[in-house]
Amino acid sequence: MQNTKRTVSTTTRKPSSNNRTSNRWTARWVRKNYNVNLTKWSKKDTSKPLNKKPDFKIKSWETPVKVGSLLGLEQVGQCIFIEYKNDMILVDAGMEFASWDLTMWADYIIPDISYVKKNIKKLKGILLTHWHLDHIWALRDILPELNYPTLYTTPLTLGLVKKSFEDPRNIKKIKYKLVDTDTEIIKIGCFSIEFAGVNHNIPETYAISINTPKWTIFTSADFKIDYTPSIDKPADLAKISRIGTEGVKFYIWDSLNSWKQWYVQSEKVIWDNLSDIIRKTPWRLIIATFATNVWRSIQVIKNAVKNNKVVFLSGRSMLNNIEVCKELWYVNVPNDYLRKLDKTADEMPDNKVVILSTWAQWEEFSALARMARWEHAQIQLRKWDTILLSSTVIPWNERAMMTMKNNLVNKQINLITNDDMDVHASWHGWAEDHKLMLHLLKPDYFMPFYMDAFPRFAHKNLAIDMWFDEEKIIMPEQNWSIIELYDNGVKISDEKLKLNTILIDGKWVWHLSWEYVIRARKIMSEDGMLTFILKIDTNTKEIIGNIQIESRWFVYSSEVKKIHTDIVNYIRKKYNLYYKKMWTKFVLKKIKEELTNYIVQIIWREPMIVPMFVYINRESIKSDINEEDAIIWMTLEEQGWE
Ligand SMILES: [Zn+2]
Repeated sequence: MQNTKRTVSTTTRKPSSNNRTSNRWTARWVRKNYNVNLTKWSKKDTSKPLNKKPDFKIKSWETPVKVGSLLGLEQVGQCIFIEYKNDMILVDAGMEFASWDLTMWADYIIPDISYVKKNIKKLKGILLTHWHLDHIWALRDILPELNYPTLYTTPLTLGLVKKSFEDPRNIKKIKYKLVDTDTEIIKIGCFSIEFAGVNHNIPETYAISINTPKWTIFTSADFKIDYTPSIDKPADLAKISRIGTEGVKFYIWDSLNSWKQWYVQSEKVIWDNLSDIIRKTPWRLIIATFATNVWRSIQVIKNAVKNNKVVFLSGRSMLNNIEVCKELWYVNVPNDYLRKLDKTADEMPDNKVVILSTWAQWEEFSALARMARWEHAQIQLRKWDTILLSSTVIPWNERAMMTMKNNLVNKQINLITNDDMDVHASWHGWAEDHKLMLHLLKPDYFMPFYMDAFPRFAHKNLAIDMWFDEEKIIMPEQNWSIIELYDNGVKISDEKLKLNTILIDGKWVWHLSWEYVIRARKIMSEDGMLTFILKIDTNTKEIIGNIQIESRWFVYSSEVKKIHTDIVNYIRKKYNLYYKKMWTKFVLKKIKEELTNYIVQIIWREPMIVPMFVYINRESIKSDINEEDAIIWMTLEEQGWE
């Protein structure tokens, strides 16, 4: 084995530490002498303080251009504001899928726009890169809050945004300007803006170049580069190259898949394979994809009609999206060939039926999930039906996916997945696509974005491998960070935003950090719930009769009798100890605390405890509690939820 250490000590000199070229020199030195991958070397710098002194001069009177991330540094999704003096614009307003362990099945999370609201007079509009939930879905919640600023976008994105607003009165309030993305440079406040087409999985996806009074900022949005896309045009590399030649100071870069080696598969391959499967399958064919994968849906519809097969659409979001595509002529097929899923799919010859179904893997009510459980109202799967899964499996959902697949093959349903042939291509570019973009734009600074920290660091390493100066890769930790663009450089600001996690749960919108409900759900999901009711005499405050007890997901049937009896005896003993000394609500609060410890001791579980009481006047059999108390009883605070 070669003794690399000795070689280093005898043949090399140490790099100087302070000049700009030292990083590159060091990198070459390490690579030459140690034969190691630079990704390991570069991680060394991640411990540097975020707000270290910039290595450029800031003029005391200078106002920087500010770029702030409200969504995109800790999750998949995008919502950025760009601010200069009296003008501010937003780029996208996406949502984050709420992870069940953090939010316990709340619907989704939206960006905290309190900073934008505080500066509402500056807000001149919102640019939209494309219609995907993680880029536009928060609009329906935040547009009313921001008094409906103008949306700058393209027809498909606008059409789908309007669909996401359920109330037609609110749809009417949406103000917008459709952008001619080929030629137009739009002026919004002090900013000049150009759209440049990229590929993704939905038509009309655009990177955006924002020319500010100081520098140009470029955001790639979600992108891949496809020279043979099956539905829309190839990415506009000429325009992107021109923008790069004119000078990009700061590039905000979609990090997803930047760690995957080589180029992402072209949609042309997927088109050809889908076409083959649709033509040759003699049975009913069910193709499941995300409703947001509009490209795939259009590919399926065009191929099915070409082969004289009828497409049945299943799932509300699929129906909505295809309706907009029809209005805009992305889907132009005879009406008979495109129908909402109904019983006729059971009556037609098998080789004439294609069902295009939603498949949201985090959502157990997606159409495919219901079919796989034989709970779908319109269609019953039967032997030899063929299901094609044209999406990738979300990593944390692999177990649930395997269960679904097992159920299907056990019923002799055919399954075709990406393991069999290429029936799905990623929506985001791989390493070589990212490298091309960086070469074309040649930014002075860039910020890996649209992901949490670990993938963003992988992205950073890719740029370092291309000899990008590590000092100029901006790596804020969290969404509260603001990036400042000065005449002489770019830095992370000392100013930080205070952001909350804003949850949407049904019709409820609130800050995660303020709310008990989510915590209560978590406790119940882990250790169950116990509730008991005391009937208390209005005059003497003694317990009348039995204590009623109920529990859920807490004790097993073999132990329920003994444990419930022990708990009831414990409650009675404690109540009799305290009831003469304090008001009933405080007695129950104390019992709750002590009962929690008691239960932990006897069975090592800590359920959510909900004590309740009812006053009964034994003499007049007339309750003297007021109506409000009768309905509310104890609030969560009174039960000890501080
Ligand atoms: Zn997207």
